[in-house]
Amino acid sequence: MNHQRELTELTEAGLLRRRRVAGSPCGVEMIVDGRPVLSFASNDYLGLATDPRLVDALAEGARAWGVGAGASHFLGGHFEPHQQLEERLAAFVGAERALLFSTGYMANIGIVPALAGRGDVIFADKLNHASLIDAVRLANAFSHRYPHGDLGVLEGQLAANRGKRRLILTDAVFSMDGDLAPLPELLELAERHDTWLVADDAHGFGVLGPQGRGSLARFGLAPTGRLLMMGTLGKAAGVAGAFAAGDAEVIEWLEQTARTAIFTTAAPPALSCTLLASVDLVEAADDRRAHLRALIARLRAGLAPVAARKGWRLPPSDTAIQPLIIGGNRETLAVAEALLARGIWAPAIRPPTVPEGAARLRISLSAAHGEAQVDRLVDALAEAAP
Ligand SMILES: *Cc1c(COP(=O)(O)O)cnc(C)c1O
Repeated sequence: MNHQRELTELTEAGLLRRRRVAGSPCGVEMIVDGRPVLSFASNDYLGLATDPRLVDALAEGARAWGVGAGASHFLGGHFEPHQQLEERLAAFVGAERALLFSTGYMANIGIVPALAGRGDVIFADKLNHASLIDAVRLANAFSHRYPHGDLGVLEGQLAANRGKRRLILTDAVFSMDGDLAPLPELLELAERHDTWLVADDAHGFGVLGPQGRGSLARFGLAPTGRLLMMGTLGKAAGVAGAFAAGDAEVIEWLEQTARTAIFTTAAPPALSCTLLASVDLVEAADDRRAHLRALIARLRAGLAPVAARKGWRLPPSDTAIQPLIIGGNRETLAVAEALLARGIWAPAIRPPTVPEGAARLRISLSAAHGEAQVDRLVDALAEAAP
């Protein structure tokens, strides 16, 4: 078996991806491929990934608990810090219980098959994250995709497709567009049609809502009843991991049946120590969130005329994810390269991660950015060809 032909095709279509090697810690000013860059690439929205208090918590956690859990949660790998973190996360998002997973990807591919299987029905937004798409494949249920945010189509699908168990799946903040799912309306539909609603809050947790409690909290909702939340801990929380939060009964069901929580070594307890400290910082970070909101407004105000002049699109988004849609794969790569030549890193996102013809720069803002750095990005884009 050789893949040379397929790889050549990818290259010719402008779709070959390349990992850039970072030679400095995650941050706003980084060394990438040996050169200094101003980065708009990370999901470290609050700038916590290198916070010295969390570095200390990890070091102390490792001294107290070692570096490995040694086993899965059921077979001796569930330590006090794991238990405390689950309780802290549940209380923070207003749920009865939470269950830890090692990554958000693993959480999604564990949660969905646990809630829907053969003979059940899943309804999924077309722009959901790849991990939710894979989760639907694994679940082996009937599945329907509805156009992005289209409640009318979803309602028709709900009315037309009965099933033993049914599940609506959505990103809470869409990862490549930055817009919010209409969570109150989705919950209302879920209630009217006796369906579960799972909200993937990878990009809202820590950023949105009072004290950063997430997208649900922003709408005055909490993960209870038929609403289940998935939150990740490697983005705004700055560390690694993920959790599901909901009523005690559904979380108990996940604990018993979600295969990616059962058949895997528990994350190091020292990470839970770090995350306990991180949740405290997230909760207290209102000033950082206010600064981030100001940066978002500043970027959009500066970029709107530039985008209009170049024929680019800046769709509505009031989150840290700001998509600048350029269109073609090669043009998008060319703009990303032109930025890099000016020492700025904003990654080009191409199909299949985004729809054909909607290649874009995914500009990701962080509370660690300053206003002058946002202005530098706007100026560089104004100068960048074409
Ligand atoms: C990043 C992301 C995930 C995966 O989380 P990891 O912890 O990085 O595995 C899941 N869903 C969405 C919407 C994401 O953006």
